[in-house]
Amino acid sequence: MKKYKHIFFDLDHTLWDFEKNSEETIEEIYKKLELQSRIKSAHELYKSFEKANRWVWDQYHKDLLGKEAFRSLRFDLALSQHNIKDEKLSLILSEQYLKICPTKPHLIPDSILVLDFLSNKYTLHLISNGFEETTMQKVENTALKKYFRTITTPTHSGYKKPHELMFDFAIKQAGCNAKESVMIGDDLEADVLGAKRFGMDSIFFNPDGIAHQEVVNFEIKYIKDLIYIL
Ligand SMILES: [Mg+2]
Repeated sequence: MKKYKHIFFDLDHTLWDFEKNSEETIEEIYKKLELQSRIKSAHELYKSFEKANRWVWDQYHKDLLGKEAFRSLRFDLALSQHNIKDEKLSLILSEQYLKICPTKPHLIPDSILVLDFLSNKYTLHLISNGFEETTMQKVENTALKKYFRTITTPTHSGYKKPHELMFDFAIKQAGCNAKESVMIGDDLEADVLGAKRFGMDSIFFNPDGIAHQEVVNFEIKYIKDLIYIL
């Protein structure tokens, strides 16, 4: 599709396989800290972490939580689902998680194939709500970094998706305009509706087929589908 010149990608859950990297990290920490006597299995700990993490991210997106509170709270909440109240343990879990998880290599299937294809036709950028240092670690520890001309995070822009100033910052940094750009992401509100309100087209990556009533430019189930529409 010739209409676009610049493509903006979200990172977590769109290119970087958050679930897989996260579960592997939790398994590693569970074994290392020998948590068997306190929590039934690594998978149980992962499930409670996943639930807590989703909730804290939602609060963080709404600016109801700061960075530090965000980081320790998700493990407090995860442990409380196993009737454990142990601030020291939750701090250790948080530190270990932050150290290990961004070094994990798993990407959403076919990401590299798609980026190779698209990078020959378009200029690619990343726009993530993740923290700057973790985002950079993630792209540096995978093969992702070389594909992106610019990387925008709230650390530099001062705003998060879906705020229009986050998109405004990203396109200014990229030296392009909204009309010649398209945003791809898995979060309907932050990525898709945020871009739409800013005046940028968007592609909703919806692998689980979440039902919604929004009018979107494109919707895909697999990242590979981008090859057919771009
Ligand atoms: Mg995402």
